Amino acid sequence: MNEKIALNIFYAAIAAAVISLIACAAVVYSSARRQADALFDRQTQTLAQIYDSYGAQGVGSAVPEGLFIQLTDGAGDVSQFGEKYDGSDLCERTITLHDGGALYVAGRGVGISQCYGPLAVIILAIAALSAAAAALRAKAIVRPVRELSKSLERDITDAGAQIPYPELEPIAGLIQSSRTSGKDMRQEFTANVTHELKTPLTSISGYAEMISNGMAKPHDVKRFADKIQTESDRMLTLVNDILELSKLDDEEKIESPEPVELFSLAMECADQLSASAEKRGISIDVTGSPTTVMGDEGKLWELIYNLADNAIRYNHDGGRVDIEVKDRRVTIRDTGIGISPEHQKRIFERFYRVDKSHSRATGGTGLGLSIVKHIAELHHGRITVKSELNAGTEITVDFT
Ligand code: ADP
Repeated sequence: MNEKIALNIFYAAIAAAVISLIACAAVVYSSARRQADALFDRQTQTLAQIYDSYGAQGVGSAVPEGLFIQLTDGAGDVSQFGEKYDGSDLCERTITLHDGGALYVAGRGVGISQCYGPLAVIILAIAALSAAAAALRAKAIVRPVRELSKSLERDITDAGAQIPYPELEPIAGLIQSSRTSGKDMRQEFTANVTHELKTPLTSISGYAEMISNGMAKPHDVKRFADKIQTESDRMLTLVNDILELSKLDDEEKIESPEPVELFSLAMECADQLSASAEKRGISIDVTGSPTTVMGDEGKLWELIYNLADNAIRYNHDGGRVDIEVKDRRVTIRDTGIGISPEHQKRIFERFYRVDKSHSRATGGTGLGLSIVKHIAELHHGRITVKSELNAGTEITVDFT
């Protein structure tokens, strides 16, 4: 038998049991009530007979304990006996007397409360059965969701996981698309890394082969060796950047943040870059005042260094680079080639370069700004780019 049918039969059985128990409870209560009513009727009739034989005095002396009696005789005189009762299980009767008067009797129905014990047991049984059915139903509802989440953990795209409820389709779709794009990004990254490493390796291997099989003329050997060194350096830089990025990918926050003074960090970066700036007649200045942020000094150094390095590499000979540090904000301005608006959005993507050959020729890996973005995010910094083609670029990282 199909599991779903078995489950439905089980629910039907529980529902039938609950209904029978409710019916049982009704029968138990109504029979207790009936017995109490019959007894009360007999007592009222007896009191009416006593009145007929002995009058109001007779009734007064025969009132059973726990009953309240109001007697209105044929002449309209009213007499009351016993204590008024307004508790639970109340029974009341009013009958007309032979002399035209009325007898009102009120009191507690004897025996009704005896059914409360069995009723409590029945109610508990109903509650237990309902709870068991609810637990089973909840399990049955949650099971497909759990299965879906397991299949999402594996790989929804390959498994083609069934979506158990239409309400879950949007969220499953969202997970699916983010997975797919994550997968695509990883694949693209791997393809890019392979390509980036292959290019210098091919040149290294070509030059080395020419030297080794004697095809290189003696005066070319030095030139070829220099090329091999340049390409090896490029590979080393690339590998370092990839390692740095993969480390940053694994970090969700700075583990032990320390106060880092940005102005002196900017001065150090400018100092380190002064030789390469000087080579092209580019001036590099640091202005502003000391300002401190909580974070990782090494990473913040790398952020400023990468931005300042770009400002030099994408500058015109004889240009200017200004690093301004103040109020937990670092701004790096250059008078370089600038970036057109359509490229500005993409320069923080891995391996995205506006001009590949310019980037390569200046020792770029296409990863510098991705590293900058990661570091800024880890420090809750906001990056803004302002740039104009052939006028210059201004990149600000705001840690406020
Ligand atoms: P790269 O190693 O190629 O410099 P980056 O990630 O540092 O890689 O930068 C990505 C691209 O953004 C660069 O290739 C360049 O085209 C552009 N870019 C970055 N900084 C500047 C700048 N200051 N001026 C002009 N273009 C820039």
